[in-house]
Amino acid sequence: MSTSRSAGLPPLEASVRSFLFLLVEDRIERGDGDEILPRWKNHRDVSVLRSLGYIEGTDRLTDKAFAAFFSTFDTITCPDEIQRCMDELRITGIQWRRAKGVILQRIRHGHGHGMTFPLAMTIFVRDGAALPTWYHELGHVTFQSIKEDRGSIARLLASAMASFPVKSSSEIKDAPGIAEGSYMLIDGRYLGLDHSGMDAVEDEIWAVVFERYHCGSPLPQNLLRIVEDIIGSITAR
Ligand SMILES: [Zn+2]
Repeated sequence: MSTSRSAGLPPLEASVRSFLFLLVEDRIERGDGDEILPRWKNHRDVSVLRSLGYIEGTDRLTDKAFAAFFSTFDTITCPDEIQRCMDELRITGIQWRRAKGVILQRIRHGHGHGMTFPLAMTIFVRDGAALPTWYHELGHVTFQSIKEDRGSIARLLASAMASFPVKSSSEIKDAPGIAEGSYMLIDGRYLGLDHSGMDAVEDEIWAVVFERYHCGSPLPQNLLRIVEDIIGSITAR
């Protein structure tokens, strides 16, 4: 029986490992979250994966499941500028990995160049991504350490909404088929303000301004001050 070992995890039979990765890939394809589809719940390998800590309860993939899948992606070295930025913010432990397969598909689908799993401290970057992408994805990781600072986040949001146009779907003519709702036009992309949940919006706005700030794009004074305050609070930790 062939087995494989990765990242110090117990060896898994190849067929069980393939099934685990199928579950993780399916979950990533469907978006955020960690529940497996009902049709997989009675699969014979689910109990094996549960006993090994890859599934908890009846249907949730654990961090360990995602980590096992992520370990199959090549690690890459981040650019010097990004390393310096991480050093300044005292961020350690990020794994930068080369996007492929289902991750690359998701990145393409979102018309982006990177994808971040902040809790797993893993950032995927596609080949040829320019510096703004690296900063943007790093921004998503830093969001985890600032999101509880509700006062700063509220100021960030208010300033961003005042700085970038907010439009309703009926006013938007250059994005056919866009779902009904209101959107903020930021960096040429429409960020939905009322369907993906405010958490996702705050996270995305932060990543965009974090990226712009580090890439030297001019930001309105008020927004610039808020960004610098928040970055200062990360450094001061
Ligand atoms: Zn983003």
